[in-house]
Order: sequence, then structure tokens, then C-alpha cells
Amino acid sequence: MIDIYQKAGKIVKEVRELAVNEVHEGMKVLTLVNLIESEIKKRGALPAFPCNISINEVTAHYTSPKGDSSILKEGDLVKIDLGAHVEGFIADSAISVMIGSGEGPYQSGDKTYTPEKQLKMIETANSALEVAINNIRPGSQLGEIGAAVEEYINSQGLLPVANLTGHSMSRWILHSGLSIPNVKENNKHELEEGDVLAIEPFVTDGVGIVGDMKDTFIFRFLRDRPLRLVEARKLLNIIKTDYKNLPFAQRWLEESSNIRKLNLAMRQLISSRAIYPYHVLREKSGARVAQAEHTVIVESDGCTVITE
Ligand code: MN
Ligand code: MN
Repeated sequence: MIDIYQKAGKIVKEVRELAVNEVHEGMKVLTLVNLIESEIKKRGALPAFPCNISINEVTAHYTSPKGDSSILKEGDLVKIDLGAHVEGFIADSAISVMIGSGEGPYQSGDKTYTPEKQLKMIETANSALEVAINNIRPGSQLGEIGAAVEEYINSQGLLPVANLTGHSMSRWILHSGLSIPNVKENNKHELEEGDVLAIEPFVTDGVGIVGDMKDTFIFRFLRDRPLRLVEARKLLNIIKTDYKNLPFAQRWLEESSNIRKLNLAMRQLISSRAIYPYHVLREKSGARVAQAEHTVIVESDGCTVITE
């Protein structure tokens, strides 16, 4: 089992590094997500979820819809979050990059960002991830890990995003029950050898809270429901077969179907709660956010990072 995780982890690492090399000013977001998802498949894995490309104050859960014309601009703070699975065993990792080498400053709402400031946010996310990883061993309490992450990020004059967490994973399940906080919490749950965890601090100079935007591009199967539309019943079967409980993009379904019928069926699946829609998340004050993420397996004397 460890070997399969290592395989998924190596693929995610390779594709993440390839993405960092390929990403550039003027690139379409859709080109980047297609590249990442196809490189995962080329290496013998499947995307564990649609590649998330979240820009500036958009914090998570953005993936391109079909035909997305949005492009990466100079100064954008881009979070690339990708996952691969091999036979359901998942590796999940994210990295933040700044687009171009301009001098800025760049504007987001009423906030101004110099390149130095953004690089500092990225560095802080990377180091906060290391702090968390250094605190992971059997018996570590979740609340203590969050406290260490928060203390480090605060020491850099920045804030963690309090309502986004890492998560435990198990076969075919991206969020399997444990949340790994990025702030101090009264959570005495102790890690155990064999736990598989995605650790993902988010760093901002805003209020440190994210909220839902109205857009939804990523979904996940929840449960079978009685459905009026034949199209919706068929679609739910395809979703269960192809993605099981893992998140999927509507873009993935549109490759082989009539868009109007698909939209109708998707609406019925959402309203009947057969599938869950992930709203795009945005920092509430409109401030920019950096993220770093690795997947680790808890070992007797610490943990193994499978995505580095
Ligand atoms: Mn991730
Ligand atoms: Mn994750």
C-alpha cells in the first residue's frame, strides 16, 4: 500500500514541477489544467480531483469550465493544487507561484502587493507547511499542529486562513474525517501511525477567512436519490462509475454530451442532493492568499512526505 502511495506521490511531484516550469504570463488557465490532468494520466494515474487553479484572492475550488478564456496575468499569485490517485490511493499537493518578473505593484481591491510581499507570502506558506510536517508523529494532537502553524505565520506578520484545513485521506476518499487545522484549536485528537494526511496551510494579509462565491465547477457524488429525469439518472450512474466518491469537474462530463441536457441533469442532481457542489472560495476581504500542500504518511518516528 505504501508503494502505491509513493507512486501517486511521485507522479504529483513530477507534474507539479512540470507545471511550475510551464506556467507563464498569458497562458490560459484551461491550458494549464488540461496540461496537468493529461500529464497525470500519461504517468499511469488519474486526477484525484480536478486541478484547482486559484488566482489572487480566489483561494480554492476554481477549475476551468469548458471554454474558459481566463488567462494568467503578470503579478498574479497563483495556487496550483493537484491530486493523483492510483487505484484510489491519493496524493494531494499544492504550490503557489507569482506570474512574471514585473516590478508591480499589483492591486487587489484596496490592497497593494509588491512582488517582494507576494514572495514573502509564498515563502511563509512553504515554511508553515514545514513547521506542520515537523510536528507530525504518532501522538501529536491536531490542536497543537494548528497552533504551531498559526504561531509561525503570525510571527511573519501574516495570518493563516482559519476556515480551511488539511484533511485525512483514505482509499477513494479525499476527506476521510480528520481536519488538520491551521490555527490553534482545542482538539486533542492524536495522530496514529499509518494516517495519510494532506497538510495545507493558507497565508494571507487579509482577515483570514474565506467565503463561498456563487460559481461551482467541481462536484462530488453524495448518494442515490429518486430522480425524475432519465438524463439525470444516467448521469448519476456515469458519475458513480467513473469517479466514485472523488470530486469531478463538469468540464470532464461535457466532452461527450449535449450541454443543455447536461446542465438540466446537473441541476436536478444538485437540488436533489445526489451530488455536492463545491463553491469557489474567496478571501472575505479580497486579500490575496498563498498556499502550500504536501501529503504525508504518519510513521513510528515522524512522517514520510510522499509528494516531495
Ligand atoms: Mn490539494
Ligand atoms: Mn488537500
